[in-house]
Amino acid sequence: MNYYKCIVPLLISLLFYGCIKTADEEQKSNENLKMKAKELAINFVIIDTHIDLPYRLEEKWEDVSGKTEEGHFDYPRAIQGGLDAAFMSIYIPAKYEEIGGGKEMADKLIKLVEGIAKDSPDKFSMAYSVADVTANFKKGVISFPMGMENGTGIEGDLKNLEYFYDKGIRYITLCHSKNNRICDSSYDDDPKWNGLSPFGIEVVKEMNRLGIMVDVSHITDSSFYDVIDNSLAPVIASHSSCRFFTPGWQRNMPDDMIKTFAEHNGVIMINFGSSFINGKVREINSKTWDEIDHWLVEHNLSFSDSEAKEYIDKYFAEHPSPKTYVSEVADHIDHVVKLAGIDNVGFGSDFDGVRNVPEGLSDVSMYPAWHILVDSGDAKFRAGLCGVFRHMGTAHILVATQPTINGCGTRCLLCPLRTVYRLSDITWEHTVLHSRLVLADAAGRCSVRGSA
Ligand SMILES: [Zn+2]
Repeated sequence: MNYYKCIVPLLISLLFYGCIKTADEEQKSNENLKMKAKELAINFVIIDTHIDLPYRLEEKWEDVSGKTEEGHFDYPRAIQGGLDAAFMSIYIPAKYEEIGGGKEMADKLIKLVEGIAKDSPDKFSMAYSVADVTANFKKGVISFPMGMENGTGIEGDLKNLEYFYDKGIRYITLCHSKNNRICDSSYDDDPKWNGLSPFGIEVVKEMNRLGIMVDVSHITDSSFYDVIDNSLAPVIASHSSCRFFTPGWQRNMPDDMIKTFAEHNGVIMINFGSSFINGKVREINSKTWDEIDHWLVEHNLSFSDSEAKEYIDKYFAEHPSPKTYVSEVADHIDHVVKLAGIDNVGFGSDFDGVRNVPEGLSDVSMYPAWHILVDSGDAKFRAGLCGVFRHMGTAHILVATQPTINGCGTRCLLCPLRTVYRLSDITWEHTVLHSRLVLADAAGRCSVRGSA
């Protein structure tokens, strides 16, 4: 009896002690990961390929060099988040396809971005190349590369592609919420071209020639496959997520497409918007927008009218969207990694362009918040954490931002890839390794094609 009296409490206390020890270790490991996350965010280039700051400021001006009341982006928060290169979205609403003036709108927004950089040279700087991003990173200045959201800005004239290349545009999202002269939109119920239009094929070729990345976010599936068939350079999705989590929604990319994309060295940048990452939220928001659309038609208003905006804000305040979480964004990243590999996924938050974002990832200060993932107790996230951070510098994206470096001819279609050499300045084992592979690939293909 005495033996049991002693041994049982001893076993219980050992077990209890074991539990405490495990919890302590758990906490310690979480703290370590938090520190690691912060360290990685500071030490490596973080790129976000889609931030809708220009249009936000066009609608309502705020000085983003200091803390702002509204929006997802401002300087103090970007610094806190370790953000180094924020692709400014030069967004042209679909209505400009009909009313004209898309080019003028693009010029206005480009000027707005240049103005922000000019007014705070110690905080922001324009970036037109890999070298610019690298140099700004070393100076501790946030880079503003630019992408144009909606090919409507080129107004059906191929010459305008070079015009915008010269202005600093380094990717173009072929369309937005409606079909345009280039291709069909995933948001438009009535396909016009069943893919790329004949003009759209010429646009892709000219973008390849100039070194402007082709962005397949927003386009239909058939437009996507036409792009893949016609583009000689890798393409990007600047702000799309996985359709696996939002079944039936064409704005996100299905598994087959992600695999095809990866075979062509494409990179999909995950959109953080709640509707993009959670199918149920998607359905609820879709009904909400149907009701809003109905009201707008009834009142003969469009989204950008101030009366409409007031109504929409009030509607959302009365019908709040269900919460989503940072771990759901990680699920999307994880999904692409499984299908295609870590080299084919990045971040395209859509900050300042989406209304609802996940808890724990609510603005540009939150990039190092991935340590939250481990709180879910899911071991796969621990393993993925370093990979995600390493990949935030997405070699392809940096690479493709500078297309005209020589190597195999002045206008070789694959020369964008050669600029990856510049990344060797960054002591980032993975990127350097990956860069070598990309270079080998580019060199191989260039020698076959010669210069063009
Ligand atoms: Zn968009």
